[in-house]
Amino acid sequence: MSATIIDGKVFATTVRGKVAAHVARLKEENGITPGLAVVLVGADPASEVYVRSKGKMTIEVGMKSVEHRLSAETSEADLLSLIDSLNRDATIHGILVQLPLPGHLNEDLVINAINPAKDVDGFHISNVGLLGTGQKSMVPCTPLGCLMMLRDHHGSLAGLNAVVVGRSNIVGKPMAQLLLRDSCTVTIAHSRTKDIEEVCRRADILVAAVGRPEMITGAWVKPGATVIDVGINRIEKTDGGTRLVGDVAFESASAVAGAITPVPGGVGPMTIACLLANTLTAACRANGLAEPEGLTA
Ligand code: NDP
Repeated sequence: MSATIIDGKVFATTVRGKVAAHVARLKEENGITPGLAVVLVGADPASEVYVRSKGKMTIEVGMKSVEHRLSAETSEADLLSLIDSLNRDATIHGILVQLPLPGHLNEDLVINAINPAKDVDGFHISNVGLLGTGQKSMVPCTPLGCLMMLRDHHGSLAGLNAVVVGRSNIVGKPMAQLLLRDSCTVTIAHSRTKDIEEVCRRADILVAAVGRPEMITGAWVKPGATVIDVGINRIEKTDGGTRLVGDVAFESASAVAGAITPVPGGVGPMTIACLLANTLTAACRANGLAEPEGLTA
């Protein structure tokens, strides 16, 4: 094994520390406490876990945390009315509607009802357009976390060949936009890509966001490349228990890569840290203050 491990847990702790320090200054110097509202509809167990840890970490960095837990039968009109009241609440700077929503609710309609300036997930169509045209926007948390780790590891990303495997709206596409913005030469690969191994082997930066356990092996990795594994897959162990693995076969890939993120403990912890960073950024922008340095795209 030769690759440097990019430790997302340590990195996320540093990011949260920077957010907390900035929040403390905002309170002291400007009397502003950034506020994050999380809306959970229904009782999906995985979403429950995410919402709980988001609330806990929001409070830990000194922000106001508000949780709205609605029944799975909530009507679209009631959900939109709640979003409207949060949009108008000056103490709330970030609004996150936990996805997936129950089937009777139109996710696009709901997400696009959030004030884009408070859309800390960066999924609103205005933020997607702003990111695509290289303008100031709210940036989706997972790709933002990947970008921060890549910038930290490489310094400048300019001129590097980046391959993003996966073209989802929440990870693959925004990741590619961010890398392009940092002047990488970007390829997006997906399920219809021909000779995908060969495409991946050209990457100086390889981002895997596929949702297929350990699909990308060392044979796909260019020697010395940086591998960012976004995947979170729960697989069964031989003893009947389960364990988490990424989209990258860690052992074989880390024998070839120059640097790699593990799963768990890589990209995952960065996602909530970036949600907090986005909430802070939104609070600064809402009050005409300078944005936190190193915590935005
Ligand atoms: P999606 O299912 O929305 O997208 C998966 C993408 O992978 C699609 O573009 C699909 O291509 C592509 N793909 C699927 N199979 C193959 C294949 N055999 N070869 C090449 N490409 C393929 O997933 P997400 O983007 O939402 O998530 C990806 C992974 O990241 C998941 O494991 C998810 O759990 C994880 N994740 C982790 C987060 C974190 O905080 N760390 C946050 C969000 C996601 P096509 O479009 O052609 O179908």
